[in-house]
Amino acid sequence: MIRKSILLAVLLAVLATAQEPRTGPACPQCNGRGETDCTRHRDVDVEREHAVEHCSVATRCRSCAGALTVDCKACRNEVVEAAAAARREAAAAWLAARHAEFDRHLVKAAEVEYLDTPHAQLVFGLDDTRIGRTRIGRHERMHLYGERVEALRVRFMEALELDESAFPPASDDVDPILHLCLFSDPRDQLAVGPRVTGIGTQGASVKLMGTRMAWSMAQDPRVQRDDTDVYRSMVHNVSHLLLSGMEPVCWIGNRGHGWIDEGVAHWFEYYVVDQTCANFCYEEVALTPGTNYEHGYWRVALRQLVERGGLLKFVDLYQKNSDELDLKANAHAFGWIDFLISTQGGASFARFLRSVKGGAESRDALREVYGFGPLEFDERFATWVRATYPLKRGE
Ligand SMILES: [Zn+2]
Ligand SMILES: [Zn+2]
Ligand SMILES: [Zn+2]
Ligand SMILES: [Zn+2]
Repeated sequence: MIRKSILLAVLLAVLATAQEPRTGPACPQCNGRGETDCTRHRDVDVEREHAVEHCSVATRCRSCAGALTVDCKACRNEVVEAAAAARREAAAAWLAARHAEFDRHLVKAAEVEYLDTPHAQLVFGLDDTRIGRTRIGRHERMHLYGERVEALRVRFMEALELDESAFPPASDDVDPILHLCLFSDPRDQLAVGPRVTGIGTQGASVKLMGTRMAWSMAQDPRVQRDDTDVYRSMVHNVSHLLLSGMEPVCWIGNRGHGWIDEGVAHWFEYYVVDQTCANFCYEEVALTPGTNYEHGYWRVALRQLVERGGLLKFVDLYQKNSDELDLKANAHAFGWIDFLISTQGGASFARFLRSVKGGAESRDALREVYGFGPLEFDERFATWVRATYPLKRGE
């Protein structure tokens, strides 16, 4: 009889715990977290979702609605539950705002996704693709671009030996976020590009630099045949944005410093992706799609020019704007920037940039930082190219 009542008491206790969720750190279901990771994120795992601020696909997750965690039913943790609810609400409000801003301009709004990373906002309408042998869906490709943009920003800061103080915080005057729109359908670019940049365009790509940084593009299959081509274009254009966005914030490409503006963009394009360049910022000049200079192998091209005595003169070009530089001049701009960064390092180059962006003439900034002027540039450059650039591809 006594045994029976003990058994009953134990049973009642077990039932009580089942009905009344426990509190505190002891829950074995969730190791005391109060929640568990959402397991519905298969094409892009939850770790990659955690690395971004918001993702439209994660926000639509039927299990977590963008919180990335689900409540543990075995325990109660009000703080954790409230935090998850706040994340769901924030994600829903964020996605509603993105839809309100863009849906009515898009040809197929349902095929465009959104991603916010720590330093960029993506409107993403690129199609599925193949990278090597791997098929990549739009959602994963969007994360890939978000990760590439963040990695490029880190690379930019490392190459120029900058820290976060190089970029201004958000204020009424400056928006430090990179606004990037990538589309497959050119009609989306024509409708959205002018809205995000404030610049009217009929082109496949448009960008705004300075106190607001925005780039919008549609993949042109004649020029950008695969994902590497799109990636290279992104690196070129986002490098322009980052250069404009570092203090003092301004675009120097229309202030007679086109060689610096284009040279920096080409430098990252060349070294971050696959050691070729293919992107030109001509808005005015009708360029046959896919036109390049020496197939983008610019180190070899410049070395061969040195051997033939055919280098362009620095003094003829260094006061032109970005859109006044032709293909060959773009290749020189790349080489000139490569020369400055390689011989004196990133910190010196950043000092040179700050001086020019602050309004100094580049001849004065050159003399101040590098100790020589425009007339002495060509000979030093040619000597360095002969010593470092290869004569043939693959060397
Ligand atoms: Zn639990
Ligand atoms: Zn996602
Ligand atoms: Zn989920
Ligand atoms: Zn450019």
